[in-house]
Amino acid sequence: MSIVSIQDVRKEFGDIVAVSDASFDIKDGEFVSILGPSGSGKSTILRMIAGFETPTSGAIAIDGDDVVGVPPFNRNVNMVFQSLALFPHLTVAENIAYGLKQQGVGKEERSERIDEMLSVVHLEGYNDRMPDELSGGEQQRVALARAIVNEPKIVLFDEPLASLDRKLRQHMQRELQRIQAETGITFLYVTHDQEVALAVSDRMILLRDGEIEQIGTAEQLYDSPVSKFVADFIGDANDVEAQVVDSQGDTFTIDVGGDHVTVPSSVAQRPDALSIDGSVDVSFRPDLLSVTNEKPENGQLTIGGTVINRIYKGDEMTFVIETELGEITVHDEGAFDIGDDVAVAVAPESVNVFEKATPATHVE
Ligand code: ADP
Ligand code: MG
Repeated sequence: MSIVSIQDVRKEFGDIVAVSDASFDIKDGEFVSILGPSGSGKSTILRMIAGFETPTSGAIAIDGDDVVGVPPFNRNVNMVFQSLALFPHLTVAENIAYGLKQQGVGKEERSERIDEMLSVVHLEGYNDRMPDELSGGEQQRVALARAIVNEPKIVLFDEPLASLDRKLRQHMQRELQRIQAETGITFLYVTHDQEVALAVSDRMILLRDGEIEQIGTAEQLYDSPVSKFVADFIGDANDVEAQVVDSQGDTFTIDVGGDHVTVPSSVAQRPDALSIDGSVDVSFRPDLLSVTNEKPENGQLTIGGTVINRIYKGDEMTFVIETELGEITVHDEGAFDIGDDVAVAVAPESVNVFEKATPATHVE
């Protein structure tokens, strides 16, 4: 059963279409990220689920109930923002219990729930501290404790970790995962940072200009991106242009910089839409390429070039190869130096082929 169900939701602000045709379902207990560049409509979707914005059209259901028109405090949903907005003049315990008190929960039960929450967020004994006596990470935990203490069905997060330094952010990501698993509450997490989304979520909803571009697990978005936009947004990708020269049942042949390579049609999202002699966008992941100075085997795609940079990365090198098709980044172990003439070897099944991208129509 879906805990959140969004059907054909659209939100306009005057002439601006912030969200259009958005439909998705979130299962009870899932950890889902809404990911996309700044201005792509992430916060607007979250705010419509929370009840701070009303959709221009479309339906939003929480736990099976239509909630359009229902005020935020009647939705069984809590939201955590980047600016934490703890009450500065209240103690940690008072901050956490604030909502419970409003709801008329008695003193004894409040005190039990506070201790339980402080233990969940690993802040036992912090009851009487004031917010300004806490580090940034500790304040985050208090905000989280406050968001889960009344056992909401869903907690919505709008870039809550964006202001933390990298190390603390990574630590809090793991904490969020642990707390989500322990409590079983559905988390819906907005971020523009693909690294965060890949790290924390069961599934991701990737937005582009107010529209959903792709929904899936990290693996699905990484291995089978539906567009060049997704390939570029999730992980690193090398993009080149190519021409379709032939099509034979479940394979087709593309011309990449004068070399022909035959690839399985499964590497294209919509193989039927690719026409012979048409241009396509091709992308390959740096970790599926290799650098070589040997003669290519028959049918193997290689792109000749010169090493222009090498960056040491633990057990691997990142090579930047200048080719006729532009710079190509490769993760490999080889011992090549700057200035070496080499070739980039591309395994046919590691290629992603897309219909020519339509340029983004950015709404600002
Ligand atoms: P994101 O969170 O992905 O950065 P938002 O959902 O905040 O994006 O915004 C999506 C688009 O809607 C942007 O173009 C933004 O300027 C516009 N927008 C958001 N809120 C309002 C508002 N209250 N009034 C007018 N335009 C808005
Ligand atoms: Mg936002």
